[in-house]
Amino acid sequence: MSVDEQVSTYYNMLLKRNAGEPEFHQAVSEVLESLKIVLEKDPHYADYGLIQRLCEPERQLIFRVPWVDDNGVVQVNRGFRVQFNSALGPYKGGLRFHPSVNLGIVKFLGFEQIFKNSLTGLPIGGGKGGSDFDPKGKSDAEVMRFCQSFMTELHRHIGEYRDVPAGDIGVGGREIGYLFGQYRRLANQHESGVLTGKGLAWGGSLVRTEATGYGTVYLTQEMMKEHGEDLSGAKVIVSGSGNVAIYAIEKAQELGATVVGFSDSSGWVETPNGVNVELLRDIKEVRRERVTAYVDEETGATYHSDGSIWDLAADVALPCATQNELNGEHAATLAANGVRYVAEGANMPSTPEAIEVFREKGVHFAPGKAANAGGVATSALEMQQNASRDSWSFEYTDQRLHMIMSNIFKNMSKTASEYGHEHNYVVGANIAGFKKVADAMLAQGVI
Ligand code: NDP
Repeated sequence: MSVDEQVSTYYNMLLKRNAGEPEFHQAVSEVLESLKIVLEKDPHYADYGLIQRLCEPERQLIFRVPWVDDNGVVQVNRGFRVQFNSALGPYKGGLRFHPSVNLGIVKFLGFEQIFKNSLTGLPIGGGKGGSDFDPKGKSDAEVMRFCQSFMTELHRHIGEYRDVPAGDIGVGGREIGYLFGQYRRLANQHESGVLTGKGLAWGGSLVRTEATGYGTVYLTQEMMKEHGEDLSGAKVIVSGSGNVAIYAIEKAQELGATVVGFSDSSGWVETPNGVNVELLRDIKEVRRERVTAYVDEETGATYHSDGSIWDLAADVALPCATQNELNGEHAATLAANGVRYVAEGANMPSTPEAIEVFREKGVHFAPGKAANAGGVATSALEMQQNASRDSWSFEYTDQRLHMIMSNIFKNMSKTASEYGHEHNYVVGANIAGFKKVADAMLAQGVI
C-alpha cells in the first residue's frame, strides 16, 4: 500500500469513529498531511499501530456539572477532560469555558497539544478540557459555584504526576483560583503542582499571564529575522482582546511595532496610532467590559461592527481569538494588503483554505502549535518552580521563555529544510513535534 493510501485508510477510519467532530477532523488531517512526508522517508513510524494510537485519546471523560444560580435555579452543564497522550510526561493542557465547547473541540485542542508540548522540549504530555458553561454575564459567586462543582468531579482524575490543567478561553486567574481552592479542600493537601496559572502568592509563576502573547511575538520576531526583517516599525493586526491578544499587543509595541487593530466577538477596533495597553487591560481584565468601551475612552480609535479586522493593511497578522476565525478570503485580503507574516496566537485560527492561500502568496506562516507554545512552556516552568519550592524572577523566567521560543523556531525551521520543505513551518512543526512523541511511544511498547 502506498503511503497516501495508508494515511487515507487511517483517516477514513477516524472519520467513522469520530462522527460529527469537524474541528478534530481538521486538526488530524493537517498533521497527517505532514506525516506522509515522514512516512516516505522513515516508514517504521507506521509500525505497531503508532499512527492509530496517536489519534486515539488514552482517556476521555465527560461529566455532569450541576450548580445553583443566583436565583436559586439549578443549572446543568457538561464537563470534559480528554487525556490524549502521556508518553512524554503528565497530561498538560488548558480548560476552556465557552458555550461552544463540545467533545470534538476538546479533542482537537488535546490533539494539537500533544505536538505543541513536545515542541517545547519539556517533559509534558497532551490533554485538554473544559465545559459549555459561559462565564460571560455571570456573577463572581455563580462562577465560583460552577468551578467548585466542576472540580468536585475533575479532582479524581488530575494530579501533579497525572494531569495538570491550566486556563484557556474563559478560564483566567479568577477561575483557576476557585478551581484550586476546591481541589485543595477535596484533596486535603496544598498540592501546588496540580494546576498552573495560579496566583503569585500561592504557587504561581511570574510571566505565566504574559507568556502566550509574549511567546507568539518572540517567535514572530525569529521568523522575521530569518527573512531579514524585524518588528521595529512594522504594523501589526492582533485579533481578540483576551489574555493572549493583550500580551501579544504589549510585546509587539515594546519591540517597536504599531498595533493597528484588535477585536472581540462582537466587532473590531481600528487603532492607527497604536493601542493603549493599560486602558485595554483595565477594560478587559478588571472591568470585564466589551471593546466598545475602549473607543469611548481613547481618541483616534474607531469601532466597526461590520467588515472584518482582516481588512486592515499591515505587515504582520497575529490571530489570537479562536479557531477558524480567518478564512481563505480573509487570507487573500491580508496578502493583497501587504501582510507578509502570520503567527497564530490562538489554536487553529486559520482554516485550511487560509493556510493554502498564505502558501501560494508567499506569506510566512507559523502555526499555533509552535507560535502559541509559550503559554504551556511557562506552565511547565511553573511546575518546575512548584516541584523545587522555588520562585524565579520575572527577568529569568522571561529569558527562559524567550530561549524556548527561539529553540522552537530553529527546530521547526531546520526540520522543514531537512525534509525538503524549506520555510514551510507547518510541515516543520508537525514533523518535529511528532518525532519526539513517536520515538517515546515506540520505546514504551504497545500501550
Ligand atoms: P480569552 O478568553 O482571554 O480571550 C478570548 C478572546 O477571543 C476574547 O477577546 C473573545 O471575545 C475572542 N473570541 C472568542 N470567541 C470568538 C469568536 N467566535 N469570534 C471572535 N472573537 C472571539 O482567551 P485566551 O486569550 O486565553 O485564548 C485565545 C486563544 O488562544 C484560544 O484559541 C486559546 O485556545 C489559545 N491559547 C491560549 C493560551 C493561554 O495561555 N491562555 C495558550 C495557548 C493558546 P469575547 O470576549 O467577545 O468572547
